[in-house]
Amino acid sequence: MKILICDAFDAGLPERLKVYGEVTEDKKNLPDAHIALVRSKTQCDKTWFDQAKQLKMVIRGGVGMDNIDVEYAKQKGVIALNTPEASSISVAELAMALMIALPNKIIPGHQGMSQNKWLKKECERTELYGKTLGLIGAGRIAREVAIRAKAFGMKIIAYDPSFRQSDFAEIKASLEEIWKESDYISLHVPLTESTKEIINKNTIAKMKDGVIIINTARGKCVVEQDIADALKSGKIGGYGNDVWYNDPPASSPLIGAPNTILTPHIGASSNENLLRISDIIVEKIKEFVSQKSSCC
Ligand code: NAD
Repeated sequence: MKILICDAFDAGLPERLKVYGEVTEDKKNLPDAHIALVRSKTQCDKTWFDQAKQLKMVIRGGVGMDNIDVEYAKQKGVIALNTPEASSISVAELAMALMIALPNKIIPGHQGMSQNKWLKKECERTELYGKTLGLIGAGRIAREVAIRAKAFGMKIIAYDPSFRQSDFAEIKASLEEIWKESDYISLHVPLTESTKEIINKNTIAKMKDGVIIINTARGKCVVEQDIADALKSGKIGGYGNDVWYNDPPASSPLIGAPNTILTPHIGASSNENLLRISDIIVEKIKEFVSQKSSCC
Protein backbone atom coordinates (compact mmCIF):
# COMPACT_ATOMS: atom_id res chain seq x y z
CA MET A 1 0.00 0.00 0.00
CA LYS A 2 1.44 3.38 -1.05
CA ILE A 3 0.09 6.55 0.59
CA LEU A 4 0.89 9.84 -1.14
CA ILE A 5 0.63 13.04 0.92
CA CYS A 6 0.17 15.82 -1.65
CA ASP A 7 -0.45 18.93 0.48
CA ALA A 8 0.39 20.37 3.92
CA PHE A 9 -0.87 18.30 6.85
CA ASP A 10 0.10 17.96 10.51
CA ALA A 11 3.84 17.15 10.67
CA GLY A 12 3.19 13.95 12.65
CA LEU A 13 0.88 12.41 10.02
CA PRO A 14 3.49 10.54 7.89
CA GLU A 15 4.81 8.71 10.97
CA ARG A 16 1.29 7.75 12.09
CA LEU A 17 0.48 6.34 8.64
CA LYS A 18 3.63 4.20 8.26
CA VAL A 19 1.89 1.31 9.97
CA TYR A 20 -0.51 1.11 6.99
CA GLY A 21 2.06 1.19 4.18
CA GLU A 22 4.77 3.17 2.44
CA VAL A 23 4.25 6.91 2.95
CA THR A 24 5.65 9.41 0.48
CA GLU A 25 5.36 13.15 -0.13
CA ASP A 26 7.01 12.95 -3.57
CA LYS A 27 4.32 13.68 -6.16
CA LYS A 28 6.22 11.62 -8.76
CA ASN A 29 4.64 8.66 -6.96
CA LEU A 30 1.11 9.59 -8.06
CA PRO A 31 0.92 6.79 -10.68
CA ASP A 32 1.70 4.13 -8.01
CA ALA A 33 -0.23 5.61 -5.09
CA HIS A 34 -3.20 3.69 -3.67
CA ILE A 35 -4.30 6.49 -1.33
CA ALA A 36 -3.77 10.23 -1.90
CA LEU A 37 -4.21 12.91 0.75
CA VAL A 38 -4.94 16.45 -0.42
CA ARG A 39 -6.12 19.73 1.03
CA SER A 40 -7.22 22.67 -1.17
CA LYS A 41 -3.98 23.09 -3.16
CA THR A 42 -3.94 19.95 -5.31
CA GLN A 43 -6.47 20.06 -8.14
CA CYS A 44 -7.81 16.52 -8.52
CA ASP A 45 -9.19 16.95 -12.03
CA LYS A 46 -9.55 14.37 -14.83
CA THR A 47 -5.86 14.64 -15.82
CA TRP A 48 -4.81 14.07 -12.22
CA PHE A 49 -7.07 11.01 -11.85
CA ASP A 50 -5.84 9.62 -15.21
CA GLN A 51 -2.25 9.77 -13.92
CA ALA A 52 -3.23 8.10 -10.64
CA LYS A 53 -3.62 4.65 -12.18
CA GLN A 54 -3.54 2.64 -8.93
CA LEU A 55 -5.61 5.05 -6.86
CA LYS A 56 -8.33 3.55 -4.66
CA MET A 57 -9.07 6.47 -2.34
CA VAL A 58 -8.51 10.23 -2.18
CA ILE A 59 -9.11 12.05 1.09
CA ARG A 60 -9.51 15.82 1.17
CA GLY A 61 -8.49 17.14 4.57
CA GLY A 62 -11.10 19.86 4.99
CA VAL A 63 -14.69 20.78 4.16
CA GLY A 64 -15.20 21.59 0.46
CA MET A 65 -14.80 19.06 -2.37
CA ASP A 66 -14.52 21.80 -5.02
CA ASN A 67 -10.92 20.81 -5.93
CA ILE A 68 -11.93 17.18 -6.55
CA ASP A 69 -13.82 15.96 -9.62
CA VAL A 70 -16.02 13.73 -7.48
CA GLU A 71 -18.07 12.48 -10.45
CA TYR A 72 -14.92 11.39 -12.32
CA ALA A 73 -13.54 9.74 -9.18
CA LYS A 74 -16.76 7.73 -8.99
CA GLN A 75 -16.44 6.69 -12.65
CA LYS A 76 -12.87 5.55 -11.96
CA GLY A 77 -13.97 3.61 -8.88
CA VAL A 78 -11.98 5.89 -6.54
CA ILE A 79 -13.49 6.61 -3.13
CA ALA A 80 -13.46 10.38 -2.50
CA LEU A 81 -13.88 11.53 1.11
CA ASN A 82 -13.38 14.68 3.15
CA THR A 83 -13.26 15.60 6.84
CA PRO A 84 -16.08 18.19 7.11
CA GLU A 85 -16.56 17.85 10.84
CA ALA A 86 -13.00 18.86 11.75
CA SER A 87 -12.67 22.50 10.72
CA SER A 88 -15.70 24.32 12.17
CA ILE A 89 -14.05 25.80 15.27
CA SER A 90 -10.89 26.80 13.42
CA VAL A 91 -12.82 28.68 10.70
CA ALA A 92 -15.29 30.20 13.16
CA GLU A 93 -12.47 31.59 15.31
CA LEU A 94 -10.88 33.22 12.24
CA ALA A 95 -14.24 34.73 11.21
CA MET A 96 -14.60 36.11 14.75
CA ALA A 97 -11.02 37.41 14.75
CA LEU A 98 -11.75 39.37 11.55
CA MET A 99 -15.10 40.54 12.89
CA ILE A 100 -13.51 41.82 16.10
CA ALA A 101 -10.38 43.34 14.52
CA LEU A 102 -12.14 45.42 11.82
CA PRO A 103 -14.40 47.68 13.94
CA ASN A 104 -11.78 47.89 16.66
CA LYS A 105 -9.23 49.26 14.15
CA ILE A 106 -6.58 46.83 15.38
CA ILE A 107 -4.63 46.81 12.10
CA PRO A 108 -4.46 50.60 11.46
CA GLY A 109 -3.78 51.20 15.17
CA HIS A 110 -0.92 48.71 15.11
CA GLN A 111 0.45 49.98 11.81
CA GLY A 112 0.45 53.54 13.18
CA MET A 113 2.17 52.61 16.44
CA SER A 114 4.77 50.54 14.53
CA GLN A 115 5.80 53.84 12.92
CA ASN A 116 5.36 55.74 16.22
CA LYS A 117 2.27 57.53 14.86
CA TRP A 118 -0.52 58.32 17.36
CA LEU A 119 -3.63 57.69 15.18
CA LYS A 120 -6.12 58.04 18.05
CA LYS A 121 -8.73 60.00 16.06
CA GLU A 122 -8.35 57.79 12.97
CA CYS A 123 -8.90 54.72 15.14
CA GLU A 124 -12.42 55.60 16.30
CA ARG A 125 -14.00 52.22 17.13
CA THR A 126 -17.47 50.69 17.13
CA GLU A 127 -18.74 47.83 19.31
CA LEU A 128 -20.16 44.46 18.27
CA TYR A 129 -22.57 44.65 21.23
CA GLY A 130 -26.17 45.18 20.13
CA LYS A 131 -25.37 44.82 16.41
CA THR A 132 -27.09 42.38 14.05
CA LEU A 133 -25.01 39.64 12.47
CA GLY A 134 -26.50 38.12 9.30
CA LEU A 135 -25.20 34.64 8.53
CA ILE A 136 -25.48 33.32 4.99
CA GLY A 137 -25.59 29.59 5.52
CA ALA A 138 -26.59 28.07 8.87
CA GLY A 139 -24.46 24.92 8.89
CA ARG A 140 -21.59 23.77 11.09
CA ILE A 141 -19.29 26.82 10.89
CA ALA A 142 -22.19 29.32 11.08
CA ARG A 143 -23.31 27.65 14.33
CA GLU A 144 -19.86 28.09 15.92
CA VAL A 145 -19.73 31.74 14.77
CA ALA A 146 -23.21 32.37 16.20
CA ILE A 147 -22.29 30.90 19.59
CA ARG A 148 -19.27 33.21 19.79
CA ALA A 149 -21.04 36.29 18.42
CA LYS A 150 -23.87 35.83 20.93
CA ALA A 151 -21.32 36.03 23.74
CA PHE A 152 -20.52 39.51 22.40
CA GLY A 153 -24.18 40.51 22.66
CA MET A 154 -24.96 40.39 18.94
CA LYS A 155 -28.37 39.54 17.51
CA ILE A 156 -28.05 36.62 15.10
CA ILE A 157 -30.15 36.20 11.96
CA ALA A 158 -29.47 33.71 9.15
CA TYR A 159 -30.60 32.65 5.71
CA ASP A 160 -30.27 29.01 4.65
CA PRO A 161 -32.74 27.25 2.34
CA SER A 162 -32.20 24.00 4.32
CA PHE A 163 -33.49 25.43 7.58
CA ARG A 164 -36.80 26.91 8.69
CA GLN A 165 -35.73 27.24 12.30
CA SER A 166 -32.60 27.00 14.37
CA ASP A 167 -31.55 27.12 18.01
CA PHE A 168 -28.78 29.65 17.34
CA ALA A 169 -30.24 32.15 14.87
CA GLU A 170 -33.50 33.67 13.76
CA ILE A 171 -33.93 32.11 10.32
CA LYS A 172 -35.08 34.59 7.68
CA ALA A 173 -37.17 33.53 4.69
CA SER A 174 -35.12 35.48 2.17
CA LEU A 175 -31.71 37.02 1.61
CA GLU A 176 -33.44 40.38 1.18
CA GLU A 177 -34.02 40.47 4.94
CA ILE A 178 -30.34 39.68 5.60
CA TRP A 179 -29.17 42.53 3.35
CA LYS A 180 -31.63 44.97 4.95
CA GLU A 181 -31.15 44.17 8.64
CA SER A 182 -27.48 43.20 9.06
CA ASP A 183 -24.70 45.40 10.46
CA TYR A 184 -22.33 42.49 9.87
CA ILE A 185 -22.65 39.76 7.25
CA SER A 186 -20.63 36.53 7.41
CA LEU A 187 -20.59 33.94 4.63
CA HIS A 188 -20.69 30.23 5.53
CA VAL A 189 -21.82 28.49 2.35
CA PRO A 190 -20.24 26.09 -0.13
CA LEU A 191 -19.47 27.37 -3.63
CA THR A 192 -22.42 26.33 -5.80
CA GLU A 193 -24.45 27.85 -8.63
CA SER A 194 -26.73 29.45 -6.02
CA THR A 195 -23.91 30.98 -3.96
CA LYS A 196 -21.53 32.04 -6.76
CA GLU A 197 -21.11 35.84 -6.68
CA ILE A 198 -23.95 36.09 -4.13
CA ILE A 199 -22.34 39.36 -2.98
CA ASN A 200 -22.19 41.74 -5.93
CA LYS A 201 -22.97 45.40 -6.66
CA ASN A 202 -26.74 44.74 -6.76
CA THR A 203 -26.87 42.96 -3.41
CA ILE A 204 -24.38 45.42 -1.85
CA ALA A 205 -26.74 48.27 -2.82
CA LYS A 206 -29.44 46.66 -0.62
CA MET A 207 -27.19 46.50 2.47
CA LYS A 208 -26.91 49.03 5.30
CA ASP A 209 -24.35 51.78 4.74
CA GLY A 210 -21.09 50.86 6.47
CA VAL A 211 -21.90 47.13 6.66
CA ILE A 212 -18.94 44.91 7.59
CA ILE A 213 -18.61 41.71 5.56
CA ILE A 214 -16.60 38.63 6.50
CA ASN A 215 -15.79 35.96 3.92
CA THR A 216 -14.22 32.73 5.14
CA ALA A 217 -16.32 30.65 2.71
CA ARG A 218 -15.10 30.82 -0.89
CA GLY A 219 -13.63 33.68 -2.96
CA LYS A 220 -16.02 33.12 -5.84
CA CYS A 221 -19.02 33.75 -3.56
CA VAL A 222 -18.31 37.47 -4.05
CA VAL A 223 -17.42 39.79 -6.93
CA GLU A 224 -14.07 41.11 -5.71
CA GLN A 225 -14.20 44.24 -7.89
CA ASP A 226 -17.67 45.18 -6.56
CA ILE A 227 -16.45 44.77 -2.96
CA ALA A 228 -13.35 46.89 -3.65
CA ASP A 229 -15.49 49.64 -5.25
CA ALA A 230 -17.91 49.63 -2.29
CA LEU A 231 -14.99 49.82 0.18
CA LYS A 232 -13.63 52.83 -1.68
CA SER A 233 -17.02 54.60 -1.66
CA GLY A 234 -17.57 53.73 2.03
CA LYS A 235 -20.77 51.75 1.32
CA ILE A 236 -18.99 48.75 2.84
CA GLY A 237 -17.28 49.75 6.11
CA GLY A 238 -14.92 46.79 6.29
CA TYR A 239 -14.13 43.49 4.61
CA GLY A 240 -12.44 40.58 6.33
CA ASN A 241 -11.37 38.04 3.75
CA ASP A 242 -9.64 34.66 3.90
CA VAL A 243 -10.57 33.23 0.51
CA TRP A 244 -9.81 34.38 -3.00
CA TYR A 245 -11.19 34.24 -6.50
CA ASN A 246 -7.94 32.52 -7.39
CA ASP A 247 -6.03 30.88 -4.58
CA PRO A 248 -3.40 32.40 -4.27
CA PRO A 249 -4.36 35.52 -6.27
CA ALA A 250 -1.99 36.66 -9.02
CA SER A 251 -3.68 40.01 -8.49
CA SER A 252 -6.93 41.14 -6.91
CA PRO A 253 -8.79 44.46 -6.64
CA LEU A 254 -9.03 43.75 -2.90
CA ILE A 255 -5.29 44.13 -2.44
CA GLY A 256 -4.78 47.77 -1.51
CA ALA A 257 -8.51 48.49 -1.02
CA PRO A 258 -9.27 50.42 2.23
CA ASN A 259 -10.61 48.91 5.48
CA THR A 260 -9.73 45.32 4.74
CA ILE A 261 -8.07 42.52 6.64
CA LEU A 262 -6.81 39.94 4.17
CA THR A 263 -5.49 36.48 5.05
CA PRO A 264 -4.04 33.71 2.83
CA HIS A 265 -6.76 31.01 3.18
CA ILE A 266 -5.80 30.04 6.73
CA GLY A 267 -9.29 29.30 8.04
CA ALA A 268 -8.58 25.61 8.48
CA SER A 269 -4.90 26.00 9.33
CA SER A 270 -4.95 25.99 13.14
CA ASN A 271 -2.59 23.42 14.64
CA GLU A 272 -5.50 21.89 16.52
CA ASN A 273 -7.53 21.52 13.33
CA LEU A 274 -4.63 19.93 11.44
CA LEU A 275 -4.36 17.43 14.27
CA ARG A 276 -8.13 16.76 14.19
CA ILE A 277 -7.92 16.25 10.40
CA SER A 278 -5.01 13.81 10.91
CA ASP A 279 -6.97 11.85 13.52
CA ILE A 280 -9.91 11.45 11.11
CA ILE A 281 -7.62 10.49 8.19
CA VAL A 282 -5.84 7.85 10.26
CA GLU A 283 -9.22 6.37 11.25
CA LYS A 284 -10.48 6.35 7.63
CA ILE A 285 -7.29 4.70 6.35
CA LYS A 286 -7.36 2.14 9.16
CA GLU A 287 -10.93 1.26 8.23
CA PHE A 288 -10.08 1.11 4.49
CA VAL A 289 -7.03 -1.10 5.04
CA SER A 290 -8.92 -3.49 7.29
CA GLN A 291 -11.66 -3.86 4.63
CA LYS A 292 -9.40 -4.05 1.57
CA SER A 293 -6.22 -5.61 2.95
CA SER A 294 -6.12 -8.11 0.08
CA CYS A 295 -6.55 -5.62 -2.82
CA CYS A 296 -3.07 -3.93 -2.99
P1 NAD B 1 -22.12 23.03 6.10
O1 NAD B 1 -22.42 22.11 4.98
O2 NAD B 1 -22.25 22.55 7.50
O3 NAD B 1 -23.02 24.36 5.96
C1 NAD B 1 -23.21 25.01 4.76
C2 NAD B 1 -24.65 25.49 4.71
O4 NAD B 1 -24.82 26.33 3.57
C3 NAD B 1 -25.67 24.36 4.58
O5 NAD B 1 -26.54 24.34 5.70
C4 NAD B 1 -26.42 24.69 3.29
O6 NAD B 1 -27.81 24.40 3.35
C5 NAD B 1 -26.17 26.19 3.18
N1 NAD B 1 -26.41 26.72 1.84
C6 NAD B 1 -26.20 26.14 0.64
N2 NAD B 1 -26.58 26.97 -0.36
C7 NAD B 1 -27.02 28.10 0.24
C8 NAD B 1 -27.53 29.33 -0.27
N3 NAD B 1 -27.69 29.55 -1.57
N4 NAD B 1 -27.87 30.29 0.63
C9 NAD B 1 -27.73 30.09 1.95
N5 NAD B 1 -27.28 28.93 2.48
C10 NAD B 1 -26.91 27.96 1.63
O7 NAD B 1 -20.65 23.57 5.82
P2 NAD B 1 -19.64 24.24 6.85
O8 NAD B 1 -18.80 23.19 7.50
O9 NAD B 1 -20.36 25.21 7.71
O10 NAD B 1 -18.67 25.01 5.81
C11 NAD B 1 -19.18 26.10 5.05
C12 NAD B 1 -18.18 26.51 4.00
O11 NAD B 1 -17.02 27.09 4.61
C13 NAD B 1 -17.56 25.36 3.18
O12 NAD B 1 -18.42 24.90 2.17
C14 NAD B 1 -16.31 25.99 2.61
O13 NAD B 1 -16.65 26.69 1.43
C15 NAD B 1 -15.94 27.03 3.69
N6 NAD B 1 -14.73 26.66 4.42
C16 NAD B 1 -13.66 27.51 4.37
C17 NAD B 1 -12.50 27.21 5.06
C18 NAD B 1 -11.33 28.15 5.06
O14 NAD B 1 -10.20 27.70 5.18
N7 NAD B 1 -11.56 29.45 4.99
C19 NAD B 1 -12.39 25.99 5.76
C20 NAD B 1 -13.50 25.15 5.80
C21 NAD B 1 -14.66 25.49 5.12
